[in-house]
Amino acid sequence: TFKALLATKAGDAISANVVDFDENDLMPGDVTVAVEYSTVNYKDGMALTGFAPIIQTFPIIAGVDFSGIVETSTYPGLNAGDRVVANSWGLSQTHHGGYAQKARVSGDWLVKLPDNISTKDAMALGTAGYTAMLCVLALEHGGVTPDKGDILVTGANGGVGSVAIALLSGLGYRVVASTGRPQEADYLRELGAAEIIDRKVLSEPAKGPIGSERWAGVVDSVGSHTLVNALAQTKYRGVVAACGLAQGLDLPGTVLPFILRNVTLAGIDSVNAPQAVRLEAWKRLSTDLDFAKLARTVSTVGLADVAALAPKILKGEIQGRTVVDVNA
Ligand code: NAP
Repeated sequence: TFKALLATKAGDAISANVVDFDENDLMPGDVTVAVEYSTVNYKDGMALTGFAPIIQTFPIIAGVDFSGIVETSTYPGLNAGDRVVANSWGLSQTHHGGYAQKARVSGDWLVKLPDNISTKDAMALGTAGYTAMLCVLALEHGGVTPDKGDILVTGANGGVGSVAIALLSGLGYRVVASTGRPQEADYLRELGAAEIIDRKVLSEPAKGPIGSERWAGVVDSVGSHTLVNALAQTKYRGVVAACGLAQGLDLPGTVLPFILRNVTLAGIDSVNAPQAVRLEAWKRLSTDLDFAKLARTVSTVGLADVAALAPKILKGEIQGRTVVDVNA
């Protein structure tokens, strides 16, 4: 047996407890991984509180991410001893996830970690960090280069936001960070933000369908009025990468940014992103991210601490990234 955080449901209530789990009860897969680390993402918060129906089959080992060492594999190209990372797919939805000392998955779900990314770094990034990279790739794809102007990052103190700031500033972009926690301005500046704005400016309903042109690009993990305002302030031919819904899943705006300013709204999905996209994202993280910048944002907890963090991340009370040491 091994230790796992198992989510169960009684009526509408979800509870999560650390249990001894029998390896024979893991779901099918051609690779078994000795998990070293997992992490706590917003999605894990939604899953464990039941705020959104992320978990589709109970009981399930929660945790949408893990990193570790391949123990056994019949998957071509993956061998015992390989260091791997898994982000999302069916983890913690329909398949046992990363809050455990062991995981068994399809090799299709695993990415071999670049040499300079440790298994702990991989979870310091987690789905949030890898999604931040997907957002940056979307800006680049849309032709947003540093000379085009400022990049707005919303939800700046969150996982996606903080990694996006570090990545973009490292690539030479001027980053404006929008946050509800202005007291963390120094931290955001250390990550690379050039300017900090109060998120209230963006999160209130828009005053009109279009505003003055301010952003060459946007990384938005907040949605709702914030995304509408960001779109309305995006420059001609700018790109807005939308990956989140921390404020809300509504989009109460107009088409004017698209038809007057040729703005691109780039959707970002990390869960079912094709393997080639994942490989590119992890490769770019290995070359473009200053991991030292990230170190300050990381706190480490054990499996038993995770359940209490779930409601906190939904309330926006967690700063930066939480790594779960499953062997602690
Ligand atoms: P997180 O660490 O909790 O960050 C979210 C941040 O959003 C908070 O730190 C807060 O930043 C801001 N925020 C919270 N509530 C808000 C509100 N009511 N109005 C405005 N801003 C608010 O979460 P995360 O893991 O970075 O994820 C961020 C979002 O991206 C989530 O919605 C998540 O589901 C989504 N996501 C999507 C994908 C995908 O595949 N599309 C992948 C990863 C994450 P400040 O304190 O700085 O204001």
